[in-house]
Amino acid sequence: MKEKLKIGIMGGTFNPIHHGHLVTAGEALNQFCLDKVIFIPSGDPPHKNSKEEKIAEHRYLMTVIATSSNKNFFVSRIEIDRKGKSYTVDTMRELKKLYGEDTDLFFITGADAILEILTWKKTEEIIGLCSFIAATRPGYNISKIQDLKARLFKKTGNNTQKIFVMEIPALAISSTDIRKRVKENRPIDYLVPEGVSNYILKHGLYK
Ligand code: NAP
Repeated sequence: MKEKLKIGIMGGTFNPIHHGHLVTAGEALNQFCLDKVIFIPSGDPPHKNSKEEKIAEHRYLMTVIATSSNKNFFVSRIEIDRKGKSYTVDTMRELKKLYGEDTDLFFITGADAILEILTWKKTEEIIGLCSFIAATRPGYNISKIQDLKARLFKKTGNNTQKIFVMEIPALAISSTDIRKRVKENRPIDYLVPEGVSNYILKHGLYK
């Protein structure tokens, strides 16, 4: 019998993508025996409006550059090309249609973003469509995820086993810090892949 396809979906702004994101995807691929990981840079994030988040095409291209050498990593324009706000529920529905209803989808993103899922559009439906992998930085207070599971259980009555936590020491790197460093003319070598660093310089991003 054919094994079920297991796909990791890396959701994020990736502004810019850095080594912490790449380590997260690699770790999820290995720990959850995924067939591949698809990075999906958000087009117009529902909870953000700042001008900085509008550089979607740059974020997409930097993600392509950063992932190009890994045979299991792919990048999708699904949210960049969709008009309006990027809602995860719409993305998961589209991916289920594309890969088949019996495909197991694992939505991988930062734990702080996952803590907010009760405020996302159609939370209950998303929980039915995919599992969640919450990537945490070292020292993260894991009880926040336990609280979320309890609140989710209260709301949906089940499915709280679908939230997994993965501590990623490399997530000490953050996009916010990288943008700040660029603005202050400090180096970002070794925090992002060389191609991404060159791209940021070439296009004068984050100045
Ligand atoms: P964010 O607030 O920019 O990020 C929250 C935290 O998670 C940050 O510390 C961030 O670090 C980290 N992070 C983000 N993506 C990550 C990843 N793939 N792996 C590891 N760490 C990650 O969150 P966001 O990027 O806007 O949203 C995350 C995902 O949730 C996106 O796919 C977004 O579309 C989705 N979302 C959906 C809804 C909805 O459907 N209503 C609402 C909100 C978010 P860095 O800054 O270093 O990346």
